[in-house]
Amino acid sequence: VDSETKALRDLYAEATRLYHHLLVNTDSGEQALAYLTARGLDESTIDAFMLGYAPEGNILYEYFQTQKIDYQLLRKSELFVEWSDGSLHDRFTERVLFTIRDSSGHPIAFSGRKLTSDDDVPKYVNSPESPLFNKSSELFNLDLAKDTIKKQKTVILFEGFMDVIAAFQSGIANGVASMGTSLTIEQVQQLSRLADKISITYDSDMAGQKATKRALDLIAQHSRLSAQVIHIPDNQDPDEYLRSNDADAFKQVLTHNIEDPVTFNLRYLQIDRNLNNQTEFFTYISDALAVIATVEEPVIRERFLRQVANEFDLSYEALQDQIRPLLLQRQ
Ligand code: ATP
Ligand code: MN
Ligand code: MN
Ligand code: MN
Repeated sequence: VDSETKALRDLYAEATRLYHHLLVNTDSGEQALAYLTARGLDESTIDAFMLGYAPEGNILYEYFQTQKIDYQLLRKSELFVEWSDGSLHDRFTERVLFTIRDSSGHPIAFSGRKLTSDDDVPKYVNSPESPLFNKSSELFNLDLAKDTIKKQKTVILFEGFMDVIAAFQSGIANGVASMGTSLTIEQVQQLSRLADKISITYDSDMAGQKATKRALDLIAQHSRLSAQVIHIPDNQDPDEYLRSNDADAFKQVLTHNIEDPVTFNLRYLQIDRNLNNQTEFFTYISDALAVIATVEEPVIRERFLRQVANEFDLSYEALQDQIRPLLLQRQ
């Protein structure tokens, strides 16, 4: 690697060490440590994920000043915000820090979570892109997860950092998360080099369901990965589910609450639709048939057609007639 990359990596390694030290060894990190402990994280997890705390003030900047680090390097690191007078100030203050590592384990960015419940403050603040951090190609935890992903041929895709970390602590080591943005083609391509199957385990709220829909479409269009959707019960996210249940219950969910993409899509099409309204019902049926028409295997297609026929008391033959032109178009 070039010398700038190396210098920036060193800077991030130092910053990670300082923030972690402040979290686990100092009074200023006490509240943040209590917060993480209350969320169920134990010491070894906090260490393994290099979690940190950024106090108020300008502590990182002052630390690097004592080491006489070059101003331009500090600027490029994006660890600081630059005021209009050119002065640099710590980007992260009064936040718990999740260290984002590249696929080789080098810290390359941070995401800071607020400790307050103040709605006016954004919950997470992420590092912007930098020479080290290309948001759309990185996946949180890929470095620690990749061996398990390769072994199990399966990757679990979560929504949030805490979901990945809580799962990891429960012995589920093949979890990654995209960086608070929608899944990208580059991320899917990286995963398809390691795994055969991707288990989308997003939050069960509406935002999570929408993101699941987008991820499924992207995976189908740009990879040969097979996909499945895990449905977390009780409108919870995986971390919340793990907190209110236990590791075994969560493993049961991962192996039993599975939807194939077609089943997910058929259910997703029903959300916010009034199927008692004739027009909306007809639209639903033609959308559902479009989904079923994407299935290659005639036997599986037939199974879904029969399922729709039974669900709405329609004739199988009528559905077959209606799907035929869609199948012809496909060829
Ligand atoms: P927590 O459990 O700490 O409350 P979460 O992971 O459940 O957080 P969600 O609201 O489900 O948070 O969001 C999922 C992910 O989206 C987060 O982990 C984070 O990466 C990203 N995210 C959430 N809110 C923001 C925000 N305001 N700005 C940037 N990214 C965000
Ligand atoms: Mn969410
Ligand atoms: Mn969540
Ligand atoms: Mn959560």
